[in-house]
Amino acid sequence: MRPTLHISSAQFLQNLEAVQSRIAPSELMLVMKDDAYGHGVKWAVDVAAAAGIEWYGSYDVRTGIRVRGALGARAGRVFAWATSTDDEVEAALRAEIDLGVGTEEYLRLVIDAAERTGIPARIHLKIDTGLHRSGIRPEDWARAVATTREAELAGSVTVVGVWSHLAEASDAEDDDAQLIFAESVAALQAAGSEPAVLHLTASAASWWRPELRGSLSRIGAFCYGIRSADGPELEGIRPVSALSASVMEIHEDYAVVGIGSFDGLPSTLVKIGVGTSAGVRELIRVDETTSDVAIWPGASIGDLVWVLGPGDHDEYSATTLAERIDTVGEEIITRLTSRVRRVIEG
Ligand SMILES: *Cc1c(COP(=O)(O)O)cnc(C)c1O
Repeated sequence: MRPTLHISSAQFLQNLEAVQSRIAPSELMLVMKDDAYGHGVKWAVDVAAAAGIEWYGSYDVRTGIRVRGALGARAGRVFAWATSTDDEVEAALRAEIDLGVGTEEYLRLVIDAAERTGIPARIHLKIDTGLHRSGIRPEDWARAVATTREAELAGSVTVVGVWSHLAEASDAEDDDAQLIFAESVAALQAAGSEPAVLHLTASAASWWRPELRGSLSRIGAFCYGIRSADGPELEGIRPVSALSASVMEIHEDYAVVGIGSFDGLPSTLVKIGVGTSAGVRELIRVDETTSDVAIWPGASIGDLVWVLGPGDHDEYSATTLAERIDTVGEEIITRLTSRVRRVIEG
């Protein structure tokens, strides 16, 4: 049997509720990039929409259109922040997707697309608060605000929000970022715009730094139950998925199980413990489509071993595995390939 990612809607719902109650009155924007962190956009939207989540962060326009499709007739705001092409921006306007705008060049492109299609663009302006990845630099902010305001008065854009992304390297840097953020918002307001939402924080800062939260919090990892690498456990949050593989052969010292590097299992995970019916056993070897696990009493063909999950079968979480190979939990789940079956379980 193919390896299987067992996905719990009930746990996802619990995590969404735990996150929402932790960050209130800031509102949750559920981040959906990388196919909802490897769990599937459609499933995530269905559960979240039933729970009344209004905001969805899609990263790119293509995913945003999938989110809009999954929402169907249901209301919901979709935010796509990847700098996109003319065609994508036009498609986004038609699908009522809010656009994150982090350069003046892209601002111009979005305004032009809005004028061409006659559909006003709903934009969230991004200020670079120090991460230097994207975002309008503070020294260019006044000019971007003037361009935006002119387009807003002409009816081609609506400024819905202001946003930025924190480095989360140190509290002091994040505090400085918040100051720049607040000044930028004030400058935009002084020019006459009234952004309805402000968003600065992702999972970790939203959870641990209440004073930095805006009216919206963009959260992915914690909603899917993936805690920060080297971070503490989170009250009320558990992984929403568990990865199993089945035993294919029994040898004297090891069992061969049906998951390998072609399924996205990093071969660097050799020596981790996986959950078996007799407790934790070492993963001895990772091949292309199979792996070897140290034998346990009573092992038989067809048994499931648990590679990662919430710990119900003695397995470790994605983040615990990720810490072993110096990466983050979402990296482990999102690299699982389409050979891994996704099964939704209650
Ligand atoms: C991925 C991402 C998030 C969500 O981050 P998590 O740590 O998974 O909550 C928020 N904002 C931006 C811009 C992102 O790229």
